[in-house]
Parts: sequence; structure tokens; C-alpha cells
Amino acid sequence: MENDHDIFSAEENLYDSVRKNICTCATDMEITPDIEGFLKKPMRELHVSLPVRMDDGTIKTFQGFRVQYNNARGPTKGGIRYHPDENADTIRGLAAIMAMKCALNELPLGGAKGGIICNPKEMSDGEVERMSRAYIQALGPFIGPDIDIPAPDVYTDSRIMGWMADEYCKYRGSSHFEVITGKPLSIGGSEGRSTATARGGWFTVREAAKEMGLELKEFSAGHLPDQNSGTKKPLAAVQGFGNVGYNAALIGKESYDCRIVALSDSRGAIYNEEGFDPRPVMKFKKENKTLTGYPGSESISNKELLELEVDILIPAALEHVITNENAGNVRAKIVAEFANGPVTTDGEEILLEKNIHIIPDILCNGGGVIVSYYEMVQNLNMDHWDENFVNKRLDGKMTKTYHKVLASSKLHSISMRKAAYTMALNKLVESMAARGWI
Ligand code: GLU
Repeated sequence: MENDHDIFSAEENLYDSVRKNICTCATDMEITPDIEGFLKKPMRELHVSLPVRMDDGTIKTFQGFRVQYNNARGPTKGGIRYHPDENADTIRGLAAIMAMKCALNELPLGGAKGGIICNPKEMSDGEVERMSRAYIQALGPFIGPDIDIPAPDVYTDSRIMGWMADEYCKYRGSSHFEVITGKPLSIGGSEGRSTATARGGWFTVREAAKEMGLELKEFSAGHLPDQNSGTKKPLAAVQGFGNVGYNAALIGKESYDCRIVALSDSRGAIYNEEGFDPRPVMKFKKENKTLTGYPGSESISNKELLELEVDILIPAALEHVITNENAGNVRAKIVAEFANGPVTTDGEEILLEKNIHIIPDILCNGGGVIVSYYEMVQNLNMDHWDENFVNKRLDGKMTKTYHKVLASSKLHSISMRKAAYTMALNKLVESMAARGWI
């Protein structure tokens, strides 16, 4: 087996963080070194070059990846990211995180992740569509409802999933919408999928708040509290204003009566101690392509947002934003990982020393893949569930998993992340053994 010093890079990347988590748990679980060696590497990965005709007539070649980490529990599952800083190691780490997330939530799925190195903000809709279709053409034999099922992630959305589903159906010559989740409703998308990651994250925050004596009321849609009632509203800051960040802010305000004092996008953050209504902020962002300058707000940096004195800090953007450099300055009571891998391993140690309650990504943001799984179930049964039914099922599942992880963390005096990873690894290893792999 490789020595850890041989495989970890000088500066910790996401793949390193996930493998460190696996090693820490494996040692205590008495997973043998050869099995640990297998778990530290993805089973399959594909690197593709995608020639795409740009609007000016030139051909640009984009690099893409798809990593299938482990399929012991079923076909692999995970999103596709479009980002200029994408790289194979980040995708490998994210694919492993997906396998842990699916196992922790007892879904009959393995883990995968994909990505294309590109800057979609600088591309036309036509260019993004041609690149998305090229990616599916390249991946054709490598994905499928019983092989690997992609979904949206950073800078990809339901419209892109629609194009991708269409391209796959053309490749197969038949309808197989269930190859992808997070689709538009008109071609088999699920009610509640677009808000699922954020809604699920808040279910875990709600449970954590109970435990910590933080008053967090829950309101159903259309039952917003009286605006004057909230002198002691919990304060939350949300990093990221994509699908997850925006819905996290919206649900926090409208369903949990939190005061969302800070929001951000990749260009910067905005602060208002009275709290924001995310709806007009989104309108402003669409018109101005930035949050900076939003009326009545103070401009702050993304770094300052993470260090605000709030009850709930929600990193909902990219990985590794809380590190050993800034973790000491984090003043939140709860850090809820709506993003994948936002805290480095040494950053986490500092947060834990400060008694900050971390809700780890594989637990906190599992709502997205859980409702993706519900979407597949509906597709395969040619069924369509209403939103209330989807949300109720999601709540039941996430609340149950949250309390299992919490109980294990208390019983063994270990962090929530270690408890969650240990439970996930147990299930993964059990499936590998049942198949006779180990
Ligand atoms: N991209 C989401 C995640 O990281 C959802 C994946 C899926 O639905 O397959 O969990």
C-alpha cells in the first residue's frame, strides 16, 4: 500500500481531504490496509477533449472529466461542474464524497462526479449547449440509468440537464430521461428538486439548532411571520448565490424566519444587519451581474462574510474556503456545509476546538441527491409525485440520518464528520463484501 506521504500533495486538495477522512475512519474501523488502498482510488475515470464550434466560427477544445469512484452499491451518481479552475483531483474528491453521501443516506447508488474546464459566464447559450452536447457524446457508453447518472452542480442547471438528456436519448435512439436528474419538469424532472439541496440543508440546521438551544421556528409556505415579531431572529450568512446559496437564503428567511445578514457571489459579498430579502437581490444580480452595489447594503469581502458573528454560517459555493488560515476567525455557532468540502481538515480541527458545530457535507447537502433518487424512482415508474410528498419524504430521511450521526458522534466522542464517514464507509464496505469483492 502507498504511504500517505507519497499520495498527498504539498498543499491539501479536495482529493487529499477526502482520503484523509477515509484513512482516519478506516484505522478505527479495522479496515485492512489493502481495502483502504482500494478505497483511496476511484474505480474508473474518463478524460475527454471536446471540440466545440464557437460563435465566431473557431473551434475551441475543452477538457472534461468524469470520475466514477465506487459502484458497489449501485450505478454511480453525481453532478457535473463547469468551472475555469476545474481539475481532476477536485473531481476525484467530489466523486468519493458522492459515494459517501449516497451510502450514508442508504440510497442504492454509488458515487461519481464530472466537470469541464470552462468559464460559462463568458460563453453564449449556444456555445454552452454545444459543449454540453459534446460532453454527452463523449461520455455516451460510459453513462446510463444503470451505469452512471449525472445531475446539476456548480454552474450547471436544469436547462443544461435537458440538453444532456436529449443528447443521450439521441445516442440511444430511445427515451431514457432517467439517465440524468435535475431535469426540467416537462421531461421527467421532480417537483422539489431545484430546492432540495437547500431545503435538506435547513432540515439538518433545524435539528442542530434544537440540540444547541438556538430558537429556530419553522413556517410552512404562505405563513410568514409578522415582520415586527423578530427582535431575536437567528442570524445567518450565506456564501454563494447559485441555486444552492440563493435557495438557502430564501428558505432561511421564509421558512425559518432567520435574518440573512450577508450574501455573496464570486465577485464579493454584501452585508446588512437588518437582513436581506433574497428575491429582489436576485433581480438585482440578474440586471447587474453582481451583488455589489445592492441598495442599502455594505460591500464586504467573501473572507469577511465567513468571519461574521452569526448563529449559522452557510458556505454554499466552492470547496476549501475555510482553512487553517481563517478558521480561527470564524465566529458562527453552526457551520452548515451546503457546499461540498468547504472546510479543510486542519481548518476543521480549529473549528472543533472552538466548539463550533459542523454539519458535514455528506449529511448537510444530501437533499440534492436524495431527491435526484426520487426523480429516478418516478421516471422508472412513469410516475409524478407532488411537491409536498417529496419534501415530506426528504424531511423524514434527512432528520433520521441526522440523529443517527449525532448519536454516534456522542456515543464515541467523535466529530460529526467522522461519525458520518464511519457510517457511510460501513455501508460501502458491507456492499463490497456482499458482492465478494473483499
Ligand atoms: N450535485 C449534487 C451533490 O453534490 C447532487 C448530485 C445528484 O443529484 O446526483 O450532491
